[in-house]
Amino acid sequence: MGARRTAIGIDVGGTGTKAALVHDSGEIAARVERPTLFSGGTKGAIAVAEDLLVKAVELGIEVGAVGIGAAGFIDAASGTVTFAPNLTYDDPHIAQAVRTHTGLPTLVDNDANAACWGERAHGSARGSDHVAYLGMGTGIGSGFIEAGRLVRGLTGAGAEMGHTVIEAHGPPCKCGLRGCLEQYASGQAIARMAREALAEDPASSILSYAASVEEVTAADVSRAAHEYDDTACTVLRRAGRALAIGLSNMANIFDPEVIVLGGGVVRAGEPFLGPARDEIARMTQAQRRRPLRIVIAALGGDAGIIGAAALALAEAPGRVEE
Ligand SMILES: [Zn+2]
Repeated sequence: MGARRTAIGIDVGGTGTKAALVHDSGEIAARVERPTLFSGGTKGAIAVAEDLLVKAVELGIEVGAVGIGAAGFIDAASGTVTFAPNLTYDDPHIAQAVRTHTGLPTLVDNDANAACWGERAHGSARGSDHVAYLGMGTGIGSGFIEAGRLVRGLTGAGAEMGHTVIEAHGPPCKCGLRGCLEQYASGQAIARMAREALAEDPASSILSYAASVEEVTAADVSRAAHEYDDTACTVLRRAGRALAIGLSNMANIFDPEVIVLGGGVVRAGEPFLGPARDEIARMTQAQRRRPLRIVIAALGGDAGIIGAAALALAEAPGRVEE
């Protein structure tokens, strides 16, 4: 028929729940955002879906499905969250709860899987059937598309690069292991490494951006690094080299055509990505691998909502297929 199809895409993060009416072209027709209720992840998803259904009526848009990318371990087959360290879902059966309130076919998946799908559908991995996505924000999420399908594992907890160990005796991680990639290349990790380094270099310009050592963020480190502050550059170099080990592991396990780097930490730019690029070049050369194509996410903070909507149009149970 060629009619435009539209879905609601929702991104439930640790601090904010973002959502939009997204056409199948990837274009956003309307958006809403609410702070995530710490103990009400599912309630928040229902609230933004209801906001957007009202907007859809005003705009004369017919909505075909709802897609949700949610932080935590998500079993997409049953639409439930199985483990979420950073926020609480008042109802673990997210898909069913949203379906009941909206009457629409609903799909829920991990937020990084949704972002990976979004970058492949409408972003910087367009046209590739072998995509890896690494989202570096407060923590680290990852998604993989193999032969055109998302890799989910048995329970949805598979392909979590953030919790692969890159340093056996490294710092402890919330997941129970030590030395996870998340403990070196996430926003939280960069802030922690900076706080440790500031004990040796209290004159670092990192402190001119933060109110106190305890309040240093990855963004403060990034700002100082762009002024060539030694301590900031050393911290980001360490994070970048750890990222390279993670990327090399991704290449060895999945052999992707393209790796997309997303999340706020990417904005640290060259002081972080330069050392990562040098190290990955050295590692791929040592293994005589073809050079990896590593790109920055094109959809930025919208990858999750655009991807969740596209995924719902492609896979939500009960949707009307073209
Ligand atoms: Zn971990």
